[in-house]
Amino acid sequence: MTAFMNPDDERPWAARAECRGEDPAIFFPGNDDDPSVGLAICARCPVRQECLEYAIEARERYGIWGGTTERQRRRMARRTA
Ligand code: SF4
Repeated sequence: MTAFMNPDDERPWAARAECRGEDPAIFFPGNDDDPSVGLAICARCPVRQECLEYAIEARERYGIWGGTTERQRRRMARRTA
């Protein structure tokens, strides 16, 4: 479970996270699973940018964060390296 899905999360933007209360499994799809359900939730999330910046800074390796899959974040990291 990601911290921002926890109602006790204290990050200022976490209270507005669209994924609060959602099943965390949606955001941690397996290799053969379709990530589109989680990505669709991110697409309407008002704190997507904050979430993505957090994930990049914290080097979150797994799961969907800020509207990106782990593969997309790896690609972004390679491009900025
Ligand atoms: S961008 Fe996605 S993972 Fe991040 S807080 Fe919003 S809904 Fe949750």
